[in-house]
Amino acid sequence: MYGLGPSVILHLCKRVSLTGHELYYDNYFSSYNLLQVLKAKKIFAAGTIRINRFSNPPVISDKEGKKRERGYSQEVSSLDGDVVVVKWLDNRGVVLASNYIGIGEEDKVKRWDKKSSKYIEVSRPEIVKRYNHGMGGVDLLDQLVSLYRIFIRSKKWTLRMIFHALDLAIVNSWLEYREDGKNSGTPQSNILDLLDFRLRVAEGFVRAGKPIQENKSGRPSSDSSPVFAKRQNCEKRPFREVQLDSVDHLPEHDGKKEPTRCKQVNCTQRSHIFCKKCEVHLCINRGRNCFVNFHK
Ligand SMILES: [Zn+2]
Ligand SMILES: [Zn+2]
Repeated sequence: MYGLGPSVILHLCKRVSLTGHELYYDNYFSSYNLLQVLKAKKIFAAGTIRINRFSNPPVISDKEGKKRERGYSQEVSSLDGDVVVVKWLDNRGVVLASNYIGIGEEDKVKRWDKKSSKYIEVSRPEIVKRYNHGMGGVDLLDQLVSLYRIFIRSKKWTLRMIFHALDLAIVNSWLEYREDGKNSGTPQSNILDLLDFRLRVAEGFVRAGKPIQENKSGRPSSDSSPVFAKRQNCEKRPFREVQLDSVDHLPEHDGKKEPTRCKQVNCTQRSHIFCKKCEVHLCINRGRNCFVNFHK
């Protein structure tokens, strides 16, 4: 009864129970009924509209608009007061509808003026500002997803959807991770960028909960691993998901002359024993078992 676009919106916000959320969408999803239903659910919404699909609200035509100055905006509201429609004359006419905001507090935006060949300041209604801000988040998300999109050769839309969902989830997680980092005062340089974050998530998935890979000669890969050899002076800590997965953490003797510093927190011992999976040295002594404690 609402049409496809509005139905999608209503379906997606079924689980939005707290009030006070703001929702923005473009004219594909807009309808008058939708704004009313959302208002009843106490969800603040705004979107661009096509006036012929919106029971033709009495806003000025584009032709009339040409006579007005750029930045002019007009506001009309429905008889029940539920819905406000704003037409704004930017480069061309833009029409938006909302259940909570109209022209509101206007601000100024810079626009290039062809006639005078210089930048001019144009008034912008609040509904447009909020709409751009809300939709800007979507654009940013799209942009971030496109940076390191999972490459898939298959043309099957189902697979593409699944991988897209994965891409979305990673980007959203990274945004939250970055926000948490900022809020907790972590220095910028310690916050992983999107690529490193992705690699880390991937490595976590690849290694957590799985046995270590033996190479073809049957020897543990860490034995001859050039990576491990290179890292021996500054052993990297494994990811927590790997460290605590309780799978295949086996001790091995490093066969070196000198023991290496134990990597368990607050331990100053040295050890020849290391964990094959985590690739860190840990000590086992009388009354002290860092190897076990490290993995709990
Ligand atoms: Zn381990
Ligand atoms: Zn130790």
